Amino acid sequence: MGKIPEYTIEKIKDANDIVDVVSAYLPLKRKGANYWARCPFHDEKTASFSVSPSKQIYHCFGCGVGGNVLNFVMEYEKLSFGEAVKMLAERANIPLEFEQVSPREQSDTGKLRGMHMRAIDIYHETLYSASGKAALDYLHSRGISDETIRAFKLGYAPETWDFLVSRLAGSYSGELIFLSGLAVRSEKDNRLFDRFRERVMFPVYDDRGNPAGFGGRLMKENAKDAKYLNSPETPIYNKRRILYGLNVTREMIRREKKALIVEGYMDFLQLYQHGFVNVVAGSGTAFTREHAQLLRRFADEAVLCYDGDEAGQKATLRTAFSVAAYKLDCRVLRLPQDEDPDSYLRKEGAEAFFRLEAEALPLMEFLRAYYQPSGMSIRQKSDAVGQLLEEIRSFPDPVYREMFTREIAKLFKIDEITLLRQLNRQSSRSQSAEKNVFTGEKPKHFKTQGEAAEYFLLQLLVNASLPVRKAGLRYLSPVLYRHPFLKQVLDALLEVLNTNISIPSGHIPDKIADPKCKQFIIQLLMEEQNGIDEEKLFIDSLKQLELQNLKLEYDRLTRELADASSAEIPLIVKKQMENREARKKLDIRYNKDIFLEVET
Ligand SMILES: [Zn+2]
Repeated sequence: MGKIPEYTIEKIKDANDIVDVVSAYLPLKRKGANYWARCPFHDEKTASFSVSPSKQIYHCFGCGVGGNVLNFVMEYEKLSFGEAVKMLAERANIPLEFEQVSPREQSDTGKLRGMHMRAIDIYHETLYSASGKAALDYLHSRGISDETIRAFKLGYAPETWDFLVSRLAGSYSGELIFLSGLAVRSEKDNRLFDRFRERVMFPVYDDRGNPAGFGGRLMKENAKDAKYLNSPETPIYNKRRILYGLNVTREMIRREKKALIVEGYMDFLQLYQHGFVNVVAGSGTAFTREHAQLLRRFADEAVLCYDGDEAGQKATLRTAFSVAAYKLDCRVLRLPQDEDPDSYLRKEGAEAFFRLEAEALPLMEFLRAYYQPSGMSIRQKSDAVGQLLEEIRSFPDPVYREMFTREIAKLFKIDEITLLRQLNRQSSRSQSAEKNVFTGEKPKHFKTQGEAAEYFLLQLLVNASLPVRKAGLRYLSPVLYRHPFLKQVLDALLEVLNTNISIPSGHIPDKIADPKCKQFIIQLLMEEQNGIDEEKLFIDSLKQLELQNLKLEYDRLTRELADASSAEIPLIVKKQMENREARKKLDIRYNKDIFLEVET
């Protein structure tokens, strides 16, 4: 199946007026240019959720959510992008058409998958050849059966430097072989050689069963090489979104609504062959929130089965919060101190493991066992609670955030209200450092006039007329910005405007990848002020920005002067004089003529 072409998605967005769509869910009231309601995504008494009919976006000044009509439906109905597109297409009676992926993309991902398919076969055959004997013996000695080896197409990469490369070279270009991650380039003569050598090979597939990459394990551990080596990120291998084994186990997971999560390929295979067929493992990276999001499509519950040692328990804690953030019920299976799922199953068998699974602790019980709050000092308690709040604070669902905080309060025997207050204070503090210095409708607090200037210029780049945007492209640069977050936003905005200077402002957020920048820009869009003299504000802000930088430079020179040798002093004094002159000339340099300049 192809994907829905960009222009169809645009057509669907155009045909679904955001005010109409949102009104079906919430009572909207018009106030000024926008519509307002109490936010459906956080608990509030006054309306801070607003919808802009002209820009076709929504934004909540309370909790910071925002986006276009598709984002709203996704958030509100808890739909995937594809599902939201489908729903809005039906609403507007637009037939969905699919396109094939672009020829270039098609050829690359198609070829890369084909190449991996070949590599899987080659490694698998080699495992069952004479040169693979030691590897096969090793797998058998670890209790992996031939049936499992065949089912998961395990393989062996021999020691030879160009074993795989020489077999692929006839069919694929060197460039593509390099892109696949199966080969690396020699620094000396740029020649390609195999990335995986003398390793047992575990093919990794995406959840639809397309080959994506490999994990390779040393049979004998040595000090020089990593025990596990994984494919690098490639166009077909995104580690943060791929779970090992999900292509095989997804149906069982869907049926049981439950997934067992383990850390490694060996743990996975051992569980699978002992009849635990609703299992997944991370692949080449720790368990991420993207993994949780992926798993959420199939399961309601996750049971974490990590190593029994200290490192395993820490990994459990991290994973537990990733899983909880996406509203999977989480339980923790506890293994004896020096066991992992693989070793435990081989020693104790499936039934014992099954019992452990049945006894797996609910998350809060695990936290109690992990922290043992009753034995903690006050300082330890407050540190632990601080860390936990930090995790909870980034849960996307505010209701879930609050429920979790209440549980934590119970666990550590702290007053709920105090902790909830702390949660909100913590979030407003960590955001106020960056994101929400400039909140909503209230008068803005800027630390300096320079900061205000940086902010207004961003607002103009998004909202103002074409001549002002053009002047922005010519005169603004991230090096002029002091505020780190605003600098990042400017950088992202300039990139978008450089590709398309006349992009409708409501479409800009769709082009921004970073979620924080995106939300901030949506906020800028909602704050557009009518009746301001854009050109004057632009010039004033630009002058302010220059002035801020000149002043900082002047202060720096003054500090230099204090330590300068007598030979250096005249030069520094001269620079200071030039600096004062430059400040005086700002009015002459920046006037309305800057909007007339032709592009060079
Ligand atoms: Zn809200």
